[in-house]
Amino acid sequence: MEKFITDNTKAVFIETPTNPMMNVTDIQELSKITKKYGILLIVDNTFLSPYFQNPLLLGADVVIHSGTKFLGGHNDAIAGFLVTNNEAIDERLRFIIKTTGAGLAPFDSWLILRGIKTLAVRMERAQENAIKLAHWLEEQKLVKKVIYPGLPSHPGYEIMKKQSRGFGAMLTFEVTSKEAQTHADVPKEIQLKNGITDCVLRVSVGIENIDDIIADLRNAFALVQ
Ligand SMILES: *Cc1c(COP(=O)(O)O)cnc(C)c1O
Repeated sequence: MEKFITDNTKAVFIETPTNPMMNVTDIQELSKITKKYGILLIVDNTFLSPYFQNPLLLGADVVIHSGTKFLGGHNDAIAGFLVTNNEAIDERLRFIIKTTGAGLAPFDSWLILRGIKTLAVRMERAQENAIKLAHWLEEQKLVKKVIYPGLPSHPGYEIMKKQSRGFGAMLTFEVTSKEAQTHADVPKEIQLKNGITDCVLRVSVGIENIDDIIADLRNAFALVQ
């Protein structure tokens, strides 16, 4: 990372694990570098939520969350969060929010607060399902590779164990035939550079009964086999 920092670099903006290839960054190690250069470290923490990972405690200056996903949890509000423990940044962010009118409406705020009340139980269940699904996928002959940071074979597993309290519920897998794919809106050359081929699928594993999730995928696989 250090070699990409130039004289006009203001901040390093990361996401860990990344969407969709689940690359993991050591937040604490990276924060040592950003502090050395006097620049900010911004972390998108959407994939793990505050329940599983707290980047501010690991040296980040600003944390970003999509509130639309795990925090809201009911697919009925669009929201986002900016979190900081730095007073000067806080003041500037508040100013922007106030002057651009980007504050969340009262009803949406209420929906997100309602969602957060069940965040813990939903994250636990979604993660439990993700682990079961990852193991099931590993056994399927149509599946070439399962990328989930909760599998000890994942290169980021040890870092995740050190900096997070869980592995989340997002997983990516590669199939042997290209019947379907996500990220169709990302230009092809960028997709390939990031390892997204026509055979890569990402699942945001939910809190349904795991047997239903597996049955659904089994059905889909049966169509292409
Ligand atoms: C979805 C997502 C966003 C954007 O959130 P919206 O609430 O949909 O605008 C940002 N970062 C990550 C990692 C996401 O998955």
